[in-house]
Amino acid sequence: MGRCRDIIGMLAKGTLDWVFPRTCRVCGQTLMADERLMCLGCMADLPRTGLHHIDFNTIHQRVGGSQLIDIAAGWFYYYSDSPYAALVREAKYNDRPSTGYTLGRLYGKELADEGFAGRFDVLLPVPLYRNKLLKRGYNQSEEIARGLAEELGCDVGDNLTALRAHSTQTRRSSFERYENVRGTYGVCHGDELAGLNVAIVDDIVTTGSTILDCVTALCTAAEPASVNVLTIGVTKMR
Ligand SMILES: [Zn+2]
Repeated sequence: MGRCRDIIGMLAKGTLDWVFPRTCRVCGQTLMADERLMCLGCMADLPRTGLHHIDFNTIHQRVGGSQLIDIAAGWFYYYSDSPYAALVREAKYNDRPSTGYTLGRLYGKELADEGFAGRFDVLLPVPLYRNKLLKRGYNQSEEIARGLAEELGCDVGDNLTALRAHSTQTRRSSFERYENVRGTYGVCHGDELAGLNVAIVDDIVTTGSTILDCVTALCTAAEPASVNVLTIGVTKMR
């Protein structure tokens, strides 16, 4: 019976793909059955950062050193005019929570293939303040974290909280951005994180001010064994 259902499901999916062909979000060509979001060629050309192999990298530098953060990793470099950047924006603005989840799955699989499964106990998505969450309907960082957790075999926690809203970060300097977000994030039930390897998950890291405020909150209100960072996009510093 189960096998019958699987076959019917596959046929239905095949029919749907034929009526509404799934296309690569980067180059537009039709996707093969086992491809998700991107075709094989665009996956191969992804401008990967490789930061998870570098002990003291650009993300560590943006948050003021490597004292507080153990592994800091981001999947690919974010150039605003690149079609890959559109994927990150789609996960955030286009009412497409599944894009964030799939980006998380794809990145999580690569990390798992490189031995990172089991390195983290719980992933903590950067939260949205409640007004923004109500307006958007979902938190893209939580969707990314769910996809990552699926591949890395760990939990997703809701211990990071947004204590207040902050105004837009666009057109602010690094220092202004940090001043703008300082004290935005807090931790609830910090005792749950004691002795755990936690990873903060965000869609994109720019100046690092959001990550820095989350790290500060975690190190103040909890005693994790290590704090790590996982993001999908990483901007190039000017
Ligand atoms: Zn493509």
